[in-house]
Amino acid sequence: MSIPPDIVIIGAGAAGLAAAIELGHAGLAVSILEARNRIGGRIFTLSDPVCHAPLELGAEFIHGRPPEIWNLLKKRRVRVKEVDGDNWCVQSGRLGKCDFFSEVDEILKQMDDRTMDESFVDFLKHCCRQSKTNRRLQEAKERALSYVIGFNAADPSRVSVHWLVKGMRAEEPIEGDRAFRAQRGYADLIEILQRQLVNAGVSIHLGIKVDSIHWRPGHVEVRANDSTSLAAPRVLITLPLGVLQASTEENGAVRFAPELPRQKKRALSKLAMGKVIRVTLRFRERFWVRLPKDRRKGSETLAKMSFLFSQDDWFPVGVDRIVAADSLSRGVPEEDEEEDEEEQGEDEEQDEESDDEGEGYSE
Ligand SMILES: Cc1cc2nc3c(=O)[nH]c(=O)nc-3n(C[C@H](O)[C@H](O)[C@H](O)COP(=O)(O)OP(=O)(O)OC[C@H]3O[C@@H](n4cnc5c(N)ncnc54)[C@H](O)[C@@H]3O)c2cc1C
Repeated sequence: MSIPPDIVIIGAGAAGLAAAIELGHAGLAVSILEARNRIGGRIFTLSDPVCHAPLELGAEFIHGRPPEIWNLLKKRRVRVKEVDGDNWCVQSGRLGKCDFFSEVDEILKQMDDRTMDESFVDFLKHCCRQSKTNRRLQEAKERALSYVIGFNAADPSRVSVHWLVKGMRAEEPIEGDRAFRAQRGYADLIEILQRQLVNAGVSIHLGIKVDSIHWRPGHVEVRANDSTSLAAPRVLITLPLGVLQASTEENGAVRFAPELPRQKKRALSKLAMGKVIRVTLRFRERFWVRLPKDRRKGSETLAKMSFLFSQDDWFPVGVDRIVAADSLSRGVPEEDEEEDEEEQGEDEEQDEESDDEGEGYSE
């Protein structure tokens, strides 16, 4: 760490990497300190050695078309595929196709952020009065509850209706109701960011677990568990919320000296992060294309299943009962795959920057 940086960034997740690239291109000397021995943070793609499908241990879906992600993927001509197919629900022990998202929408669109804020559970108590007598509406309410728990990873008794409405509003311009995957998973994005970091002259120090930040206006000294220390006029902290909220005696906590100002601590105490448990199963064959077994003539199988929603408590974590099933079949060649693909690259601009000459696969 010989050249004194203009700014130290703590954390090499998507937030830290994206900020480092911007700041590097703006002419600042940037150093990133990252505890793990890899970059990407909660984005981590493994390549399955058997079926060669990307296995995501963290983020999987690109929600909508946010330009921050799409512009990078487009420039690199990375293939992106929309998640499509049928949604299936388990209802009273039986499998059936369902219009999950439309039903959920019917309930969610009744939320209003012009009235007093309340939790989603409280909203459900008074929303849709007819639902007491209307079974379909009652089911829709249950699905909306699963959606908030599973997709927003939120505790419905704590999550604010105003927050949910704001989120839905922000999703509109980017078509946030659509979901996509890059062909090699989120690893594609991290690789692009990695190349851009080099071009922006950012230095990355892996395996450095920051344990304290000593600061005063205009000066900061970041100290790590291995006695490394780095001083700079500024620090940008992209640590996960859980780390920032940990009390100083907890393992992994980062200490501020002096303590953070009261308003920052207050803001931190008002934020919450939902918990998700992810289980990935690999099957030898796509047995579900023959299910359900007792199907009547003309009825469909699970061959084109995209999501399977269940209200059952079989999944050990009570909050996450939504299983993405189509990812399981991605390693299996499908005849219509080419047609499904979001065509990228035909009208792409030529790469402008020298760092963009890498060979990320293209069409
Ligand atoms: C299972 C799962 C599924 C998800 N699915 C999706 C999805 O489908 N779509 C989507 O958009 N999002 C999804 N997300 C959320 C997404 O992954 C995160 O929002 C995003 O990756 C967060 O990026 P970040 O840079 O803010 O934080 P992080 O990626 O957490 O980066 C913070 C970095 O700080 C480092 N760090 C921690 N402590 C220290 C320390 N003391 N010193 C130095 N470094 C430290 C960490 O190692 C990490 O690299 C999912 C997350 C999970 C866990």
